[in-house]
Amino acid sequence: MSSFPDFDMDDRWILSHRSSKNPVDAHKPYADRVEEERAASGDIEKVATVFLTNRECPFRCLMCDLWKNTTDEKTPPGAIPHQIAHALALLPPARHIKLYNSGNFFDTKAIPPEDYEQIAALLDPFETVIVECHPKLVNERCLQFRDMLRGNLEIAIGLETAHPEVLEKLNKRMDLKQFEQCVQFLAANGIRSRAFTLLRPPFLSEEEGVFWAKRTLDFAFDSGVECCVVIPTRVGNGAMDWLQSQGFFSPPSLASLELVMQYGLQLDAGRILADLWDLDIFSTCPHCFEARKQRLEAMNLYQAIPPEIACECSIPEAVR
Ligand code: SF4
Ligand SMILES: [Zn+2]
Repeated sequence: MSSFPDFDMDDRWILSHRSSKNPVDAHKPYADRVEEERAASGDIEKVATVFLTNRECPFRCLMCDLWKNTTDEKTPPGAIPHQIAHALALLPPARHIKLYNSGNFFDTKAIPPEDYEQIAALLDPFETVIVECHPKLVNERCLQFRDMLRGNLEIAIGLETAHPEVLEKLNKRMDLKQFEQCVQFLAANGIRSRAFTLLRPPFLSEEEGVFWAKRTLDFAFDSGVECCVVIPTRVGNGAMDWLQSQGFFSPPSLASLELVMQYGLQLDAGRILADLWDLDIFSTCPHCFEARKQRLEAMNLYQAIPPEIACECSIPEAVR
């Protein structure tokens, strides 16, 4: 593939392809859950995830659908602590917590800085607090928040792809150097980082998608991240659906996800986790879906490579 539409897929174009947002309440998280994850310590531990409702991210990445559960207005002070308290009252206990806010934790319009103290107090029981943020919003505020926490702060950053041209087309407004500098800034200040990486972003064939997902893991670990999450790219935000209809995008296969995970685990450079959300949408074979899902779950939890799945649909040798 590696061909691009002959026009600019800018903010305006991306916005014009959107459908409407979901109804959300600025005083309630839009989702929450507790699940097991392989921790940095090597143990399998419970991690709570609270999906905060707040003002939409100011960036307009081509593949992003996180805007669906956001508000248009600046988040009112007090709303975020209220959401966290609400979720913690309902969720079973966990050792670590992710506060994912469909954007950037250090975007002051999404998470008011005057709430940091109260948020940090609510997070007292947790050993690790993981938030997400674009490198352009990683600054002194992260250090202020780090100092308020009893536990360790970890920041998840969307690297997406190490393919420089595709990264530019994703409208992320970040280059590889900025990612690297951000990870180094965090490391120098005792803050661990994880990278969100895409498997087969638009404009790449399946084979190129696998190749670049591996290079992206190489780049992320070389930059100093401790954990990489591999996310199979999907449609659903309007822009991606258009790209698929025009032949600029096809979702990756589960077998490709397994290959990239295998590669990442063999690197032995840090934790590597596959995003298994909605995994069935990537399945093209009813015979092996459950087996592949279980294999990926085992890779996530044990950081080991279980035997390959034998099925007629298995990936052609050429892609390996
Ligand atoms: S920075 Fe993150 S949340 Fe914001 S548009 Fe890009 S992918 Fe979505
Ligand atoms: Zn199969």
